[in-house]
Amino acid sequence: MKILVARIPEEGSSFEGDDPGSVMQVEGDTFIRESGDVHYSLYVQHVCEELVVRGNLSVELGLQCARCSDFFSTTVGVSDFLRAYPAPDGTDSVDITEDLREDILLNVPGFPVCSEGCKGVCAQCGADLNKSSCECETEDGPNPWTALDGLNL
Ligand SMILES: [Zn+2]
Repeated sequence: MKILVARIPEEGSSFEGDDPGSVMQVEGDTFIRESGDVHYSLYVQHVCEELVVRGNLSVELGLQCARCSDFFSTTVGVSDFLRAYPAPDGTDSVDITEDLREDILLNVPGFPVCSEGCKGVCAQCGADLNKSSCECETEDGPNPWTALDGLNL
């Protein structure tokens, strides 16, 4: 998003809109698969040769679940975006795209899960426990083989 400095009135100006998801540059990222449009709602002021931009951002991202490693869609929001840019007289425009991207990436959860109840994968056999069960020992149920441990021949 580029802000045209000359168009900012003395009392400031509100901007609301979307930047295309491509600004997130998630191609090739291991843990983020895709990005929706970046929605911004910003208030911009031009004070003392500085452009002050504040507001909030939100974007829908495809994240990889830390438990089951499936990709799922979730909204990542930034509620306290705040930046000041030097904007002396004659400044044409200020591009804030890189900062939007950076703040959103900082707000991506470090341990995203597709749902609270995600069972993840079995640590022993790798089976996706959301879709099937496995024969490995789990806390949820008795392993059919443990009965044999108590067998005294
Ligand atoms: Zn999951």
